[in-house]
Amino acid sequence: MLRVQGLKAWYGEAQVLFGVDLEVKEGEAVTLVGRNGAGKTTTLKSIIGLHRSVQGQIQLNGHDLSPLPPHLRARLGLGWVPEDRGIYASLSVEENLILPPVVGPEPWSLERIYSLFPRLKERRRHPGSKLSGGEQQMLAIARVLRMGASILLLDEPTEGLAPLLVQQIGTLLSEVKAHGISVLLVEQNLRFASQVADRHYLLSQGQVVEVLDNSQIALKERELL
Ligand code: ATP
Repeated sequence: MLRVQGLKAWYGEAQVLFGVDLEVKEGEAVTLVGRNGAGKTTTLKSIIGLHRSVQGQIQLNGHDLSPLPPHLRARLGLGWVPEDRGIYASLSVEENLILPPVVGPEPWSLERIYSLFPRLKERRRHPGSKLSGGEQQMLAIARVLRMGASILLLDEPTEGLAPLLVQQIGTLLSEVKAHGISVLLVEQNLRFASQVADRHYLLSQGQVVEVLDNSQIALKERELL
């Protein structure tokens, strides 16, 4: 469904991606791993349309995303879960879920959201400011599903979360995947990466240098830290 070919990117004069190729199939979860500065975030931002100084092909279900601004990419099903989670602190959980407009092709009903996220149902009247970090992450993911995304893009969703919450987010993303939603995530925590994803693209100096399965990624831990 998502296919990136020959992606190059620049910050000013400095080229930082040198022809990234990757693919995420329907219902598949894939990670981008690599050392700091390898180009993971830039790859994600280029796909979303937040970084525009790029060349190469970015296709979603056969549509060419390259000329489109982020909101039109969202209409085709790209669901960006922002790093700061973008929760409105003064609004309730339910308001956070229902206020953003449905834009994508596969919007979830509130009932479906609450059946997958019972914790959010329990807390639906609580203000965003009262949620734990893990609950905020859940809400950010749930909101993107509600808006109709068919593929979720996340940049280090476990950053700053305690191990138990990391585990919960992992379980949740596996369930999201089981619902046929694709997932592309940047991840430093390789144990988490192998829990959630099927394949891993190892980036180094702006290129994909290896595609790893779960047994191979465990061997890379020392190399990547
Ligand atoms: P990290 O985990 O540290 O975020 P990353 O793999 O996500 O690493 P990127 O953030 O994509 O890497 O950075 C790729 C390269 O682009 C790095 O050399 C970085 O210094 C450079 N870079 C990133 N953002 C900018 C920017 N706003 N201006 C100039 N250079 C940048």
